[in-house]
Amino acid sequence: MKLTSKISVILVVLVLMSGCLIGVLCVENVSEAFDAYLFDNYEVMLDEWARTFVAYYAHNGSWNGIEYFGRVVGLEQSGVVLSDLNGRILYHFDRDYVGRHVPQEIFSRGYLLRVDHQVIGILYPAALFGDTFTIMQEEFAKAMMGGIAKGVLIISLFAIVIGIGLSVSIATPLKELTQATKRMAKGRFSEPLPIYGNDEISDLSRSFNSMANELEKSTELRQQMVADISHELRTPLTVLSGKLEFTLEQNRPLEPEEVAVLYDEVIRLRGLVGELQDLSRLEAGHAMLDKTLIAFPAYFSDFQVLLEAEAESRNIDLCVDIASDVEYCYADPKRLKQIILNLINNAFRYTAEGGIVTVRVWQDKNEFYFSVQDTGIGIASDELDRIFERFYRTDQSRDRESGGSGLGLAITKALVDAHDGWIKVASRLHEGTTFTVMLPHWNGMDAK
Ligand code: ADP
Repeated sequence: MKLTSKISVILVVLVLMSGCLIGVLCVENVSEAFDAYLFDNYEVMLDEWARTFVAYYAHNGSWNGIEYFGRVVGLEQSGVVLSDLNGRILYHFDRDYVGRHVPQEIFSRGYLLRVDHQVIGILYPAALFGDTFTIMQEEFAKAMMGGIAKGVLIISLFAIVIGIGLSVSIATPLKELTQATKRMAKGRFSEPLPIYGNDEISDLSRSFNSMANELEKSTELRQQMVADISHELRTPLTVLSGKLEFTLEQNRPLEPEEVAVLYDEVIRLRGLVGELQDLSRLEAGHAMLDKTLIAFPAYFSDFQVLLEAEAESRNIDLCVDIASDVEYCYADPKRLKQIILNLINNAFRYTAEGGIVTVRVWQDKNEFYFSVQDTGIGIASDELDRIFERFYRTDQSRDRESGGSGLGLAITKALVDAHDGWIKVASRLHEGTTFTVMLPHWNGMDAK
């Protein structure tokens, strides 16, 4: 059953049920009130009917024929009952009662009819006879029920109209939501749902739209990533296959220099695939860190020698400034080395001969800081936000042959994040760049 029909049926059933309930309660309560009203007003009416009965008796000298007389003059409208002095019913608007006896509890409540001071009969208002309805009462109840039935009918029609309106207003956005999910399943994200009003359904549409946005972004990112990866793999693969094809055509063995070139390309490929694997593990949160307290000055001096040699070969001045109070750093030693080398190697790569690369290390109570500053090509301010994206390379670096895969900073950031730290960059184009890393100190809670 459709939502529209369901809501309409529920509303109509509710209206009918309440109509019936109101009817029953009204008939019960109002009839009682009506009885009381009739009874109260009977005194006046009874006086009149009493006069009629007395006149009949005075004229006839007995009650003979009173029943026939009653029907002729329309006594059934009066709702009165007449009995003789023994309580035997002589006239009742319902013929079946004639001849029976007035119930004991009512007997003493009748009105005595007199002719010349002699009691000739007793007159009772029918209301005294409990649940016996007078014709007037029945008609009253019928009219009342008719009115209620009409009311219920009109309200039912309203309920159907309101039900249809209500269900259309609920069903329309739901229908649109269903269509949107179907569109989304086919990869069409760009048609947002219309928002009606400010209720729960519009909240749902709003969050659906933002979910569609996020999905669109991540789909674009994924497509971009696949395109970037294939682009990155294409170059070494082209070199490899070209060289090998050529050698096959020539039908000669490879020269040692050619093998070295091919080997370089294979190593580049392996490095790229390894970096990608590393990054996806880190981003999925699957990379386990083996954090420990590292005695930093000794740890750094282990690879400082190699860095100095590299700086010298590039004719770059490498300055290292480790604050005297720095003793320990809480990190995974292998991963920390990766972070430091990525940043320092980038500084070397993007700094021209004669430049300076400065490494600073300091700490405060809760945090360990590490920065790498260079006097290199710098990064344009509009590109600063993007350099941590995978495969992103600035225009400046693309012009140079020195560029790497564009994965280094993405991996560095993922590693710093995995250590619950942060990495920031400040740069001026053609002047230089500073990367700063913060790693929280060991807080004594997750001691190994
Ligand atoms: P790459 O392997 O290309 O160096 P990274 O992810 O390490 O990739 O760096 C991304 C980009 O950020 C680089 O291509 C370069 O454009 C820019 N970049 C990184 N470090 C520096 C730096 N020290 N000076 C200038 N540009 C830098």
